[in-house]
Amino acid sequence: MGEMLKGKVALVTGGGRGLGRAHALALARAGAAVVVNDYGGSLYGEAGDDGPAAETVAEIQRAGGRSLANQGSVSDWASAERMIAETLAAFGRLDILVNNAGISRPARIYRLIEEDVDLLIGVHLKGTLATSHFAAAHWAAEGPAGGRAIINTSSASGLHPNLDGTVYAAVKAATAALTQGHANELAALGVRVNAISPCARTRMVEASPAVLSLMPKGEVFDRHDPDHVSPLVVYLASDQCRFTGRVFGIEGPDIGLYTPWSVDQQITHDGGWTPEAIADSLADLPQQSEVRAFFPGGTTAFRAPPGRSLRALGAV
Ligand code: NAD
Repeated sequence: MGEMLKGKVALVTGGGRGLGRAHALALARAGAAVVVNDYGGSLYGEAGDDGPAAETVAEIQRAGGRSLANQGSVSDWASAERMIAETLAAFGRLDILVNNAGISRPARIYRLIEEDVDLLIGVHLKGTLATSHFAAAHWAAEGPAGGRAIINTSSASGLHPNLDGTVYAAVKAATAALTQGHANELAALGVRVNAISPCARTRMVEASPAVLSLMPKGEVFDRHDPDHVSPLVVYLASDQCRFTGRVFGIEGPDIGLYTPWSVDQQITHDGGWTPEAIADSLADLPQQSEVRAFFPGGTTAFRAPPGRSLRALGAV
């Protein structure tokens, strides 16, 4: 076992597969005891069994680490409370919370069903809030102490929304927003809160041919292996982390730090605006902003909203 997280205790949600499994193994290799939560369900949000969480736990234990499985769903408030309670009962402390559990249900807004909205908000948004709440309540009861960390999971889909994923985009953008808010709320308790926006070939990506085509398997170095994302999670969980309230894009060897939302243009009208004055003042302002996005394949410069959307509007 390594030294970077020696003596620390981590809870990883969705740790039975994909990125969460890689994070749990890496945290354990760095010396942390790890509670692996996973409801073992389908990519689309149907609950499953305890197999995936138990397999990650067995892998950690075979390598000499300390680990415990939890099969609750992060979408359920009481299950989230139990995850924290079981972590404290088993290992006596909680230092690191990795909010990673996720599902995918792509649908264009006019084809959405209520279940898409409820399930996506339930796992990604309510789930992140629920575990963060119970972890933060525990830390607040203990009082300020250094070395605590929450690592949330955002997505390029939320930072740069495109087509067919409006609910997923909304909850992943909300994850970036709550990361900034929680970083401010929890700083006085010694908790760093950051988010990653990963690119890795997992079952979530394999289910989407368009995204999968952007992540071909590398022969010499596979930049989309989930294992390459987890060293960043270990760093963000460690006492060496200098940051809070930030979003880090990561893919293979590349890490990109995002700026928060930032004002691009400003117009002013002394004495207040009329709708006509706004129309006049905005007539010559660019309709698009320059953006640098951390997408599969590396950083990409483009304009938002895309010219395609402006042309589609112009054609109607
Ligand atoms: P994955 O499907 O391989 O793993 C997700 C895991 O979360 C699964 O094991 C699943 O059982 C678990 N899970 C789902 N709902 C749960 C719930 N309610 N309670 C507990 N566990 C639950 O997918 P992945 O690609 O490893 O995704 C991990 C995270 O990374 C997700 O939040 C995803 O949105 C995000 N993400 C992934 C990518 C990528 O390139 N793979 C990109 C951006 C964001």
